[in-house]
Amino acid sequence: MTSSETPAAQSHACATPSGDRDLLTSCVHCGLCLEVCPTYLLSGDENNSPRGRLRLWREESEGRLAPDPWTAEYTRECVGCLACETACPANVPYGEILEQTRHMHVAAGRTHTSLKLRIAAALAARPRLFNLTMLPMRLLRRWGVLPHRFLFSGRPAFAQSTASYAKQLMEQHRPTGPRVALLTGCLMEAVFREINFATVRVLIENNVQVFVPSNQGCCGAMQEHLGLDGIDQLRDHNRRAFRSLPVDAVVCNSSGCGLALGKALSDEVPVRDVLDFLGEQPLVQRNRAINGARVYVDLPCHLIHGQKVAGIPKSVLDATGFRWELAPQARDCCGSGGVYNLQQPDNAQEILARKSAFLNAAAGDPVILATSNHVCMMQWNSAHKSGLVKQPFQVRHVIQLLDPQQPACVEESEKAAIWVHQK
Ligand code: SF4
Ligand code: SF4
Repeated sequence: MTSSETPAAQSHACATPSGDRDLLTSCVHCGLCLEVCPTYLLSGDENNSPRGRLRLWREESEGRLAPDPWTAEYTRECVGCLACETACPANVPYGEILEQTRHMHVAAGRTHTSLKLRIAAALAARPRLFNLTMLPMRLLRRWGVLPHRFLFSGRPAFAQSTASYAKQLMEQHRPTGPRVALLTGCLMEAVFREINFATVRVLIENNVQVFVPSNQGCCGAMQEHLGLDGIDQLRDHNRRAFRSLPVDAVVCNSSGCGLALGKALSDEVPVRDVLDFLGEQPLVQRNRAINGARVYVDLPCHLIHGQKVAGIPKSVLDATGFRWELAPQARDCCGSGGVYNLQQPDNAQEILARKSAFLNAAAGDPVILATSNHVCMMQWNSAHKSGLVKQPFQVRHVIQLLDPQQPACVEESEKAAIWVHQK
C-alpha cells in the first residue's frame, strides 16, 4: 500500500463536502463496513476504511482538522467499490460523498490527475473522435495483437457502429417484444465493440426490440472517478438522447456505465443492467454441456453495490448452457474501480491477487472467468499477464456466453493472440 509513503506537503485550502454536512454526520461509527472494505483489509489502517475516511472528511469540514495531505491520500486510496454502502445499516451515501470529495480535492489542487488520464477523459467525452482514435486498437485486437495486459482478446468490428448493426438486425428479424434503448458506452464502443454486437444479437434473438440512439454520449463515469468537471453536461446530453424514446428501459452492458447513466436518467426512464433485464424474459437456451468448459462468474461491485442488483440472474446463467458457478469471493472487489487500476496499480494488483488465486487450481477446459463490466474484464485479464495466475483462462462478458454467434469455447483468435507487452 502506498499509505506508508508520505504524500507531498500541500498548502491548499480545505476542500471537503462541507455543503453536505448532513451526509457526513449520517455515519454512526458502528464499523460494520470495515470488514468489507478492500483497502482496510489490505492495510489494517482505520484511516483507510470507510469510517476512517468519513471521519477525516467530517473533521476537515468542521474545521477540527487542518487540510491535510494524508486526507487527500486516503481519499485517493479508496477504490470506490461501494461495498461499504451495502454493509452500512445507517444508509450512509458513501458514493455520493466520495464523488463530491474527489471533485473538491481536484478543484482545490489537493489531488492531481495525470495528463494522460485527463486526455483519455476528454476523448471519452467525444465519442466520434474517441472511436476514430481507437481504430488502430480495434484493428490490433482483430489481428490478435494485444499490446497491453488489460486488453483481452476479441474481434471487434472496426468500421460498422453498433447503432448501424442494431438497425440492420432489427430490419432482418423484426422482433415484437419489449423495446429497449442500448447505451453503447465510450470504451465499449471504441475498443470492445464485439460485446455491444453480442448484446444486440442476444436481445434480438430473444425478441427484444433494440434501439441505439446515435446521438448518445459518454455516461460520465470516468469524470466521476477522476473528480473532473463536465459531468453535468454529459448527463444533460444523455437526458436529451434517451428520455423521449418510446422504450420500456435503457439497458447497459457495463455496470459502471449503468450506474453513472442511472444518475442522469433514473427519474425519467428505467436504466437496467442488460442481464438483469434479460432475467425477466423467456430466453433461448443454449446447449453447451457437452464440453469441459467451466465458467466462474464474478459480480461487479457497481452492479451489486452501485445499482443494488442482487446479482446476475440464475436463469440467464443457466441459459448459457455452460457449467457455471459463482467465483469464490464473487461479491468482493477485484480492484478495477473504474480507473483505480491505472491510478493505484499496486493496490489494484494486491486486491486482485487475493481474489484471483483460485484460478491457479480451477477446474475446466477451458477455464472461463465471466463478468459484466468491461473494466472488471480488463482487470481480470491482467491477472494472467502480470503473473498472478499461471494457468491460462479466458475472460468473457456473460452476454457473450449467450451469444448465438459464440461458436465454441476456445476461439481461434484466442489461440493466436500475440502479446507484445507483458506488463
Ligand atoms: S468504496 Fe470500497 S474501498 Fe472505498 S471505503 Fe467503501 S468499501 Fe472501502
Ligand atoms: S457501516 Fe455505515 S454507519 Fe457504520 S461505520 Fe461504516 S459508514 Fe459509518
